[in-house]
Amino acid sequence: MSRVYNFSAGPAVLPEEVLQEAAAEMLDYKGTGMSVMEMSHRSKPFEEIINTAEADLRELMGIPDNYKVLFLQGGASLQFAMIPMNLMKNGVADYIITGQWAKKAYQEAKKYGTANAIASSADKTFSYIPDCSDLPISENADYVYICENNTIYGTKFKTLPNTKGKTLVADVSSCFLSEPVDVSRYGVIYGGVQKNIGPAGVVIVIIREDLITEDVLAGTPTMMQYKTHADAKSLYNTPPAYGIYICGKVFKWLKKQGGLAAMKERNEKKAKILYDFLDESKLFKGTVVKEDRSLMNVPFVTGNEELDAKFVKEAAAAGFVNLKGHRSVGGMRASIYNAMPLEGVEKLVAFMKKFEEENQ
Ligand SMILES: *Cc1c(COP(=O)(O)O)cnc(C)c1O
Repeated sequence: MSRVYNFSAGPAVLPEEVLQEAAAEMLDYKGTGMSVMEMSHRSKPFEEIINTAEADLRELMGIPDNYKVLFLQGGASLQFAMIPMNLMKNGVADYIITGQWAKKAYQEAKKYGTANAIASSADKTFSYIPDCSDLPISENADYVYICENNTIYGTKFKTLPNTKGKTLVADVSSCFLSEPVDVSRYGVIYGGVQKNIGPAGVVIVIIREDLITEDVLAGTPTMMQYKTHADAKSLYNTPPAYGIYICGKVFKWLKKQGGLAAMKERNEKKAKILYDFLDESKLFKGTVVKEDRSLMNVPFVTGNEELDAKFVKEAAAAGFVNLKGHRSVGGMRASIYNAMPLEGVEKLVAFMKKFEEENQ
């Protein structure tokens, strides 16, 4: 067996320990004589898996009792529609456009009501987070929407926007569980798990109870109503059971690492190694303004497309894979999620130094 250092933006690296445990339980989960994949979602063992996963997530994030945790499907992209369909009581929402995912969410919301783009960093290819301290928040806005960590561009909100009392909704797909978070500042926190938590197919929605009502847009499918899933404790229909099981294992792993404060410390240390190198390198350059840099996704370029391609190719041959930047921005991107070991980043930087020396 030989494992690579996988810098993919998602689906992404998972803790090796978790994969090993899952492998050991593949044929016989705790004496049930079957795999979790083969198990009824209404069985006792699965009930325990999903309840434990929720309890561990609540503990990790300090989720208050007046928030529901939902394990859903359809990826983060389905939430682009579910959010307006469920939350637009006045038919108005404000969006802060900091990249492609925020833009997609905004465009989807426009189908269901009035979505206003109240700030954007499109003018500089989304390389920064706009000042959100005093935005023209709509008086009757049902919510203010952000994508908290921009997976493609590598920016992160270091302070949350001033929503002037309106409900904050955040897509945290690529920064989920990377640092402590004050859940009470949000109405909805959601993310696809395939970036920083588990296998694709699960989206976790953490939603304040008062936002879960029957008063949804006319015609909203049953499966797209938060109330359906909240009432049924995520078991209205067959949930992505195996994915939830792996997420649960990652939550246990995170607790063992010391929780989210410890993860933040580790993530800062890892990111610093890479950013410090980018700041001193004569060949490689980071593409994001320093104060808005993401701890999770680090885009960089050499300024020469041919050299970028050569780097990506040689890096892959050396065991550092998926470093090609998103097709919309080019260059490189190293995603260094929770499960990327410090050693992976150190070795990548050593490889970059060597490449720089050879290609001056
Ligand atoms: C990957 C990603 C998405 C899309 O996720 P899907 O699960 O593929 O729908 C949305 N938002 C962010 C921030 C992402 O990183």
